Amino acid sequence: MTRRTAVAAAAGAAVTAAVSKPALMGGAPVRTGAFPGWPVWAANDEAAWMKVLRSGKWYRGSGKAVDAFEAKFAALMGVPHCLAVANGTSALLTALHGLDVQAGDEVIVPPYTFIATVNAVLARQALPVFVDTDGLTFQMDATKIEAAVTERTVAVIPVHMAGAPPDLDKIVEVGRRRGLKVLEDAAQAHLGEWRGRKLGTVGDAGTYSFQASKNLNSGEGGAVVTSDGALLERCYAYHTNSSPRKGVSAAPAQGLNLRLTEFQATLLLSQMERLEAQAKARDGNALYLTQLLSEIGGVTPAKLADGCTRSAWHLYMFRYDAAQFAGLPRARFLRALAAEGVPCSSGYTPLNKQPFLENVFQGRGFQRLFSAERLRRWRERNECPVNDKVCGDAVWFTQTMLLGGRTDMEQIAAAILKVRAYAAELAKG
Ligand SMILES: *Cc1c(COP(=O)(O)O)cnc(C)c1O
Repeated sequence: MTRRTAVAAAAGAAVTAAVSKPALMGGAPVRTGAFPGWPVWAANDEAAWMKVLRSGKWYRGSGKAVDAFEAKFAALMGVPHCLAVANGTSALLTALHGLDVQAGDEVIVPPYTFIATVNAVLARQALPVFVDTDGLTFQMDATKIEAAVTERTVAVIPVHMAGAPPDLDKIVEVGRRRGLKVLEDAAQAHLGEWRGRKLGTVGDAGTYSFQASKNLNSGEGGAVVTSDGALLERCYAYHTNSSPRKGVSAAPAQGLNLRLTEFQATLLLSQMERLEAQAKARDGNALYLTQLLSEIGGVTPAKLADGCTRSAWHLYMFRYDAAQFAGLPRARFLRALAAEGVPCSSGYTPLNKQPFLENVFQGRGFQRLFSAERLRRWRERNECPVNDKVCGDAVWFTQTMLLGGRTDMEQIAAAILKVRAYAAELAKG
């Protein structure tokens, strides 16, 4: 048997084993068991946590855990510098300060991302300019960046959506040629890679999130990584009320308190002990799931860009073609799949069209910074037709569903095949 027919046979066996009628029509679901839970913890996390508690040294000024985490995460990323901060949004804000993004500047962002990417730009009183999504990879379309550059553009934020990169070669090249800083939002991309380099370390700086849902989790938490020592020191001072590190001289500038606690840092250190094994499990399962789904008409998994040597698989994303499911609307497909024991969602809605943007622009501060003419031009350019389509037909699975065994992947494929076999009837109901 060839690899391809073996895959088809596995999925076929799984679908025959399932009771044929969809669960939504009263049949037995393909799966009744739960997928792996999140977060995962064990004795090492408890010991680490209690050690900090009993030391009474709970903040980075008195303890050693934040320093230790920064050293270990920088080493893991293969760069000399890491700064731990309170969360991923703080990491973006801190990096934007470090890169000297100022009020009135423009920053290029993708529309297919979590709102925090854009919120951080707005918090700097800068204008987020959206560049359309690539319909195959779900990532920022690097070929459309240059057309969005104006005399006010100072930076571009490629987001590694779901844990996989856009075309970073192209983005770094355009950045260099047009004088733009490249800030990678790697909040979803722990251990993801571009040509063997860790995501977040290819541009001028990268940011991570350790919020509860992320692949490395301390409830809340974040980090900035970079190879630029001077940039790191600007970020350091910013995150602790503009007070530079001991022995570092820096001109006093703006600052906030965005520090990570010792508790979070020690939890990150203990959680990191299982990060590689979890990343391997996700990668193996996701690649197998892609083989299975590639056999099913109307389901197109997000493609990894050519230079992507590893995805972090924070999400598993595919595009759903209702026409190949007898016109079954996506919302009903999602309901039918969930009824089979496969939790799923429709993902993001178009961020570039959300009302918060206009509300921010109407504020007194933005009105002073951005002329009516500039905002009019922004509105004119703010069209992302491919992204609108992707938002309309995307389906997501979460990273924890990739932490189990191959059978889980076969059951996901079997559930989709079952829904497809009964699509016409499901569409009527
Ligand atoms: C989660 C996330 C953030 C924000 O991180 P927080 O730790 O929740 O502040 C930013 N960007 C992306 C793409 C994210 O997924």
